[in-house]
Parts: sequence; structure tokens; C-alpha cells
Amino acid sequence: MSPSSPPPTPPRTIEDLMAQALAMEREAVARYSELADMMETHNNLEVAELFRKMASYEALHVKQILADMGWSEGPVPPRQPGPWSAPEGPESVPIDEMHYLMHPWHALNLALAAELRAEAFFADLVRQAGDDEIRRAAEEMRAEEAEHVELVQAWLAKVPAPEEGWGEDPDPPRYED
Ligand code: ZN
Repeated sequence: MSPSSPPPTPPRTIEDLMAQALAMEREAVARYSELADMMETHNNLEVAELFRKMASYEALHVKQILADMGWSEGPVPPRQPGPWSAPEGPESVPIDEMHYLMHPWHALNLALAAELRAEAFFADLVRQAGDDEIRRAAEEMRAEEAEHVELVQAWLAKVPAPEEGWGEDPDPPRYED
């Protein structure tokens, strides 16, 4: 399985490219925040904080794109069909990979996979770019995602891998239906 699928249509203008990047970063902010809320609900505060921090990095990226383009809000591309062929943006951690007892190690691995997908997405755009301006901009975005990858990797090196049985809860939550 390839880490990312190429977007159905490569951006033809710099506005196109940045609109795609913006949509992707916004989705990443929304998803990381959602995961943080989810972990807070389960009182998994360490992991919640970690996702909160990832959301803040991606939010910086959103701000930077808006500033670079001189956009106040930016175009909001239609959600369907999106600029990518998968149902979710490449930088979004899939909700179904979450576990309420997950350790920071798991969260960081999910974040790492998302950031690697984002980097691969922009690398595809660099390859498909029709002119130098688009290629340069895509390369800049790719380099920033590579920084996120490095950051998550450095963080990951500092957290212990979970022991076996981490997913067993002696006092599991009860859900009413
Ligand atoms: Zn990122």
C-alpha cells in the first residue's frame, strides 16, 4: 500500500496548490483537536495534551498559508470531491485507530504516520508541478511537513514503548445505550 495516493488533479495555479494545502492543514487541526477532546473525555490527559500540541503546529501552518497568500479566510474548497481521492485528508489521523487507553507512544506513531502522509502528498505535488513557481511552493510545504516528521520522531524517541497488556482496563467504562 502506498503511503499516499496522488491527488486526482494536480494544482494548476499557486492559488490551487495553496487552497489544497489550506484544506489539508485545516482538516489536520480539526482532527487533532477532536482527538484531544476524545482523550480528555477518557481522562487520558497526557495524550490529549500531545494531540493539542500537534493541532497548534498545524494551526500555525494554516496561519502561515493565509499570510503568504494574503487571504483572510481563504477559499473553502468543496469537501466532496476533495482535492485528494481518499475520504480524508492525508494529514488526518483516522478516528478508528484511537484507543482510550492509548499511550503517548501510540499517539505519536499515529501522528508520525499522518505527517509522513502529508510529506508524501506534497512530494507528489512537487513531481507533478507544471511550473517552477508551483514546484517551489510545493517543495516548501513538503519541507515543512518533513520538519513535523522530525519533530514527532524526536518526541517519539523520548517516550517509552508501552508494555504488553496496555489495553486492558481493570475498571472498564460502562456505556449506557
Ligand atoms: Zn504537519
